[in-house]
Amino acid sequence: MDTVMSLSIYGDSEVSDRIRQRITALDSALDATAADSEIARLNKQKSAAVSEDTARLLDRSLDLCERLEGSFDITVYPAVLAWGFTTGDYAVPDGDTLRRLAAATDYHAVRSQGNTYTLPDDVMVDLGAVAKGYAADVCGELLRDSSAQAAVLSLGGTVLLYGQKPDGSAFRVGVADPDNPAAYFGYLSCRNNGVIATSGGYERYFEQDGTRYIHILDPKTARPVDNGTLSVTVVADSGTDADALSTALFVMGADEAVAYYRAHPDFDFILLTDDGVLSITDGIYDNFTLSDGYDFTVRQIAE
Ligand code: ADP
Ligand code: MG
Repeated sequence: MDTVMSLSIYGDSEVSDRIRQRITALDSALDATAADSEIARLNKQKSAAVSEDTARLLDRSLDLCERLEGSFDITVYPAVLAWGFTTGDYAVPDGDTLRRLAAATDYHAVRSQGNTYTLPDDVMVDLGAVAKGYAADVCGELLRDSSAQAAVLSLGGTVLLYGQKPDGSAFRVGVADPDNPAAYFGYLSCRNNGVIATSGGYERYFEQDGTRYIHILDPKTARPVDNGTLSVTVVADSGTDADALSTALFVMGADEAVAYYRAHPDFDFILLTDDGVLSITDGIYDNFTLSDGYDFTVRQIAE
């Protein structure tokens, strides 16, 4: 998953080995860029039987593609490759190539029968936007089967909060500053189980002729998103949902994200735009604290 994992467990620490093993196995099954992963095999052979976890995540992801109305699409992978985001050999594809890539991006083309998935020749899938969220969900399942009292799993920008800390205090989760990702522009204080996932243009990008191209693509155009969004943090019960939503709301941009939230208010979000406006939904508004030195205009989003 191309990130650092950290896991803190309060109480039963025996479960940590099981968690590490499961997440390591998930990582090697799901990584589209690793030559021998299940997803790489599916993309190459165009038909492959996959493990239970991979099938579960593919099905959940296809369902999310449907629910997220075109802003999230796991078949955007050929475009991700064309822009060079997997290798670092960055290039801006020409207009014809982009039109072809956008036309070939369509999750409806993924077929399945049992655990066997089939793709047309010009289609490839990428679970990169949801792998960490799914790993957080698997970790949550293992924790529920253990006697651990509380735990925090951090996988890059995706954080699972589980249980109640022994001293009764809330968890505090920092939200990375897109201009300086080692710093936090604010903190969320949480008492509930759940997952907090952040998508930011700062995670991976390149610059050419004064334009910044980020690794989150609009499936409709096969181009990097350029709508003024700097970062989106989503809080949801499910990690897979939180991870897909953070990517999708980023693609939608602030206005569409607010409209989507009002139509489906079963999650919360924090969205930062390049005009310095920080939109925060009702459910977490009182749990958020802006760090010293940041003067964003904070906008409360009601359901
Ligand atoms: P990160 O990997 O930094 O946590 P995201 O969760 O937002 O960031 O996922 C971005 C990755 O997902 C990209 O590197 C790319 O592989 C893939 N991707 C990019 N745009 C989309 C999209 N609109 N829908 C689905 N997957 C995407
Ligand atoms: Mg994501």
